[in-house]
Amino acid sequence: MCTLIAVADTVQSETALWDPDEITITVQGGTHHHTLIRDLAALLADLGAPTTPGGGLTCFCGDPITIPREAIAAGPL
Ligand SMILES: [Zn+2]
Repeated sequence: MCTLIAVADTVQSETALWDPDEITITVQGGTHHHTLIRDLAALLADLGAPTTPGGGLTCFCGDPITIPREAIAAGPL
C-alpha cells in the first residue's frame, strides 16, 4: 500500500510527520508549499524513497505521490 498524505486536524510539532501504523504522512495544513515539499522530500528520503532531482515526490515503492491540494491551500497564508 502506498504512502498517503493527510492534513493534520491539529497543530503538530513538525511540518510532516510519518505514521508507520497508518502508512501516512500527516502534514500541517497551510504550510508554504516550498517548505512542505522540501520537508516531505526529506522525510521520504529517510524512509528509503528514491530521490528524483527536480521531479515530484516519490513513494518508497517508486510510485509518484501527490500532495493533496488542501494541504497547500488550507490555512492563512
Ligand atoms: Zn508506494
